[in-house]
Amino acid sequence: MSKTIPPVNLKRQYETIAQELDTAVLEVLRSGHYIGGEVVTKFEQQFADYTGVSYSVSCNSGTDALYLALRALNIGEGDEVITSAFTFFATAEVISRVGAKPVFVDINSETFNLDVSQISAKITAKTKAIIPVHLFGLAVKMDSLMELAQKHNLFVIEDCAQATGGEWQGKKVGSMGDIGCFSFFPTKNLGTCGDGGAITTKDHEIAAKIRILKEHGSKQRYHHEYIGINSRLDTIQAAILQVKLRYLDQWNNQRREVATRYHQLLNNLSYLTLPQGLKGAKHTWNQYSILVEDLKSGDYTFRDEIRTKLLEKGVISMIYYPIPLHLQEVYQNLGYHLGDFPVTEKVARQVLSLPMFPDLTLEEQEKVVYTLKDCLS
Ligand SMILES: *Cc1c(COP(=O)(O)O)cnc(C)c1O
Repeated sequence: MSKTIPPVNLKRQYETIAQELDTAVLEVLRSGHYIGGEVVTKFEQQFADYTGVSYSVSCNSGTDALYLALRALNIGEGDEVITSAFTFFATAEVISRVGAKPVFVDINSETFNLDVSQISAKITAKTKAIIPVHLFGLAVKMDSLMELAQKHNLFVIEDCAQATGGEWQGKKVGSMGDIGCFSFFPTKNLGTCGDGGAITTKDHEIAAKIRILKEHGSKQRYHHEYIGINSRLDTIQAAILQVKLRYLDQWNNQRREVATRYHQLLNNLSYLTLPQGLKGAKHTWNQYSILVEDLKSGDYTFRDEIRTKLLEKGVISMIYYPIPLHLQEVYQNLGYHLGDFPVTEKVARQVLSLPMFPDLTLEEQEKVVYTLKDCLS
């Protein structure tokens, strides 16, 4: 039996740059300086330059980045924030955590991103912001979204957690909205060896306020202007990220090659719909997510059957995400029902993410493909 193919292989990535990472981490360990410092400041500057904005503020996670963004824009009780019904829970969770109400929009069936043409109908006098999510690494159509936001005087917070390095019409994600929010969780395109996150912005005041909010609402020690949080990017993580940022474009290119090979190898198979990308977008392929046509009714789908069979044959696939946000238990009070967002609901039943990481070999990819073909026949 050959080895199981995992959805991601972080150990393999580490091995390709082990020496540089070891040196960077040891330097921090030996310095005796583990919180903040020049290593963190330097990474923030490098990340701002990479994204094409003036400011980047690091924090402890992508979730904190989103939370800090909402707080910096004074969004809270009585406000509404529009986002996709099909994303990781954190995107909506932070809206609730600041006391605002998440308002969901259905997705486009080809991009899996929120359908910009359906946003207008959701805007009310209470709407303060839109959070577009560049899901699986594919940028939202930001030009039309920004135009709409400007017309209605709404803030735009980009959830870039899965799309670090991605672009829309030549602009990096995180440089188009008022604030970009990034996650450095290990499986993201720029992942560290633990938790981490950052915001990006062109606005000096927003950056300054986020700096205060992430340090207990305090600019000057022991003087507190706001109720903030404690959210730091550890010095060790910043040192690791400085090394990895140098490889991000190369890794994203490798992901594009893997995606192209999947397209070629899986073309024209029955029951499958392949992810298409979008003209104008530079995809970062955090996930390669296919749809498996549903041949059954009820809770157990053909997708689930295929996933189980793949697993038995040593290929691990993932489901991002099985339950749309409007149908989550905790959001029953929002009054949504099954049937409200048909595209989201269909995709949640059919989506299946295949192994995808920069160092996936051709042999492994071929195994994924012939195993999948075998399961489908
Ligand atoms: C990973 C992710 C987050 C949260 O990032 P953490 O660093 O895990 O807190 C938010 N939104 C999306 C779309 C994500 O994929």
